[in-house]
Amino acid sequence: MDNKKLLYEISELNNLFREGTGIEGLLKKTVEMVASHTDSDVCSIYLYNTETNELVLNATHGLNPESIGYVKLKYGQGLTGLALKEMRPVCETDAAHNPNYKFFPGIHEERYDCFLAVPIARGISKIGVLTLQREKEKSFSESDITALVAAASQLADIIENARFLMAMHEPVTEREKTIDVLPEELKFVRGKIASEGFAYAPSIVTDKKKNLTAMLHHQFDDKYTLDDFHEAINKTSSQLEKLQEKVGQKLSDSASLIFAAHLVILQDKYFIGGVEELIKNDLNPPDAILKIAKGYIESFATSNSTYMQEKIQDIEDLIVRLINNLLCESEEAVKVKGKIIITRELYPSDLLILSSEGATGIILVGGTVTSHLSILASSLRIPMIVCNNYGLLDVPDEIPVLIDAEIGNLYVDPSDEILERFEQQQKAKQTLDQQKLTMKPVTNTLDGTQVHLFANINLLADLKVACELRCEGVGLYRSEFPFMIRRNLPTETEQFMTYSKLVQLVEGRPVTLRTLDIGGDKILSYYGETKEQNPAMGLRSIRFSLQNKSVFSEQIRAMLRAGVNADLRIMFPMVSSIDEFCAARNIVHECIDELGKKNIEHNSKPKLGIMVELPCIVDLMDEFAKEAEFFSVGTNDFIQFMIGIDRTNENIAASYVPHHPSVLRALKKVVQSANKNNRPISICGDMAHEEKYIPFLLGIGVRILSMDPRFLPRIQQAISKIDIAKAESIAENMLSKSKISEVTQMLE
Ligand code: PEP
Ligand code: MG
Repeated sequence: MDNKKLLYEISELNNLFREGTGIEGLLKKTVEMVASHTDSDVCSIYLYNTETNELVLNATHGLNPESIGYVKLKYGQGLTGLALKEMRPVCETDAAHNPNYKFFPGIHEERYDCFLAVPIARGISKIGVLTLQREKEKSFSESDITALVAAASQLADIIENARFLMAMHEPVTEREKTIDVLPEELKFVRGKIASEGFAYAPSIVTDKKKNLTAMLHHQFDDKYTLDDFHEAINKTSSQLEKLQEKVGQKLSDSASLIFAAHLVILQDKYFIGGVEELIKNDLNPPDAILKIAKGYIESFATSNSTYMQEKIQDIEDLIVRLINNLLCESEEAVKVKGKIIITRELYPSDLLILSSEGATGIILVGGTVTSHLSILASSLRIPMIVCNNYGLLDVPDEIPVLIDAEIGNLYVDPSDEILERFEQQQKAKQTLDQQKLTMKPVTNTLDGTQVHLFANINLLADLKVACELRCEGVGLYRSEFPFMIRRNLPTETEQFMTYSKLVQLVEGRPVTLRTLDIGGDKILSYYGETKEQNPAMGLRSIRFSLQNKSVFSEQIRAMLRAGVNADLRIMFPMVSSIDEFCAARNIVHECIDELGKKNIEHNSKPKLGIMVELPCIVDLMDEFAKEAEFFSVGTNDFIQFMIGIDRTNENIAASYVPHHPSVLRALKKVVQSANKNNRPISICGDMAHEEKYIPFLLGIGVRILSMDPRFLPRIQQAISKIDIAKAESIAENMLSKSKISEVTQMLE
């Protein structure tokens, strides 16, 4: 084989693509060239589709050309899939007898026994596989392998370039075009669960940006008047006020004012005056609105501030609504009711709006989901799935979609069999109403040991369920939610109102308010301009509060005032040292003094505790116990920081193992120390609602669990079947293991 010549010719392929041959032509030319240079009967290229996780035959010389596009291998399947998965050449002299061989009828490869496959990759990015096949006796040599590896590496750049150029030149209308026949790969899509549950409803693709872009390119043929503009302003204002009221009623948290920015713009004399001026100069009102809006957007866009970026969204949102009202098109609010929303972008405030407008489920395409966005969706009881299949954005409206957000599957236009299967599954599940009846006020183990069950509350809406399920109090109130679902900081009064409502609904039971836990993946887009290299370890949680004393003091005052007659506990998140705890406590004391001096009613003796979320706390527990009055282990973050695995990263989710031996041993140490020092300790991370960990937790001495209220009945039942002596021996056994696999085996 003349390697140099082959490599030279492959490098020439770039020109071929530039001449307009397209990627198919390029691949076809490549397989012909490589087959001829390597004296092979067959040369094929399979490209890897990361969305479907499949290798698809895209070009072949020597196999049945009709199989192009139809021969598909799952990642790792067959000898070809193996080459990509293990990123190494696979060479066989008798391919069909290899256990990994995958037979495809009709592609006519039976007579080629000798097989060579090499992965096509750029760095760690997997692009596809280049394969050669020859008849018996013409096996591949080491130098064939070396040459093919070199060719594949050169090809990688060319294919990536070609794909990139194709994507760039793809006409915009392509994306906006809807499809008549659903492609097979859209019928079943695997995604990641963001909020559990099932939903079956007609689809609607919402794409805010597309709407405004479409409007900017639209020719408005009908002529409108200044009066029409004023009417549209009034209609939009009253729509937004109603929407705000609906959101407020549904959630009662300080969720109102989500639309404050919209309303402010609608009353802005520069905005209104600017549009009026243009209309008087004979510009059609929709064009006048767009012209002024463009000016606003451009001036916000030149700012680097994330706050301003958010404002652009507000303007886009408002303008689309305003122009729709001007044209008397139906408002968007009507459209999402009872629908499954397919969208590319989602902010906490969008989620609230969709929920209050009655959306049934959400599919987020290509976005990342922060843990708090998914916690919010769970609180709103909206099933939500995140996936990377962009084809979903082309699904026509009104196509039935089934979301199974218990395992992360979604089905577009599902068959009757699939629907029937889901209906049966649903019937078999106990409803929450039935569970409420079985819930007892006191939770005991088999031997009569009492375990206290508390609720984690994210939005006030969760508390209703929690109280119906007879929780013993609130073990964790994630106070950052009212901050996150809005577009600006809630005032002290707004926070006071939210916490008061919470205290009132809890009816005398203990209530644990966690101070602001933002940073990491819980971002307040309106606060803090600087992007951090490593936000998980950046200015977050209690560190943020201590650096922003006025924000922290406002929150503490609101908590103290709301908790005037309550069993109030204030908890600091992500504390890393006793110094930090003392600094936070000093601020609480300052707030108590201040409220006292001003004669404002407040709770002057709240219990102050910390979240155990960082490994550095473990060896300081005894000393912490002298300062903090209670502890709560946030296992979600504790595990993340113990084993260094990002809790939100889907690619490494399998390595996020709560039962890592070091995690188990650290938990035992923490719990024992708290118990020894007579300080209450609870578990409030997700481990508290995972049945398989309950014996371990009870076995190491945990007697307080706090969880999403929906899990309370299940966990109460599990506890009632456990004997403490047995739990202790299970825990001891688990603690004796040094390998994750050994503990996994025990749990299974
Ligand atoms: C935790 O880290 O376990 C926890 C309960 O806090 P959050 O999930 O809100 O970070
Ligand atoms: Mg946490």
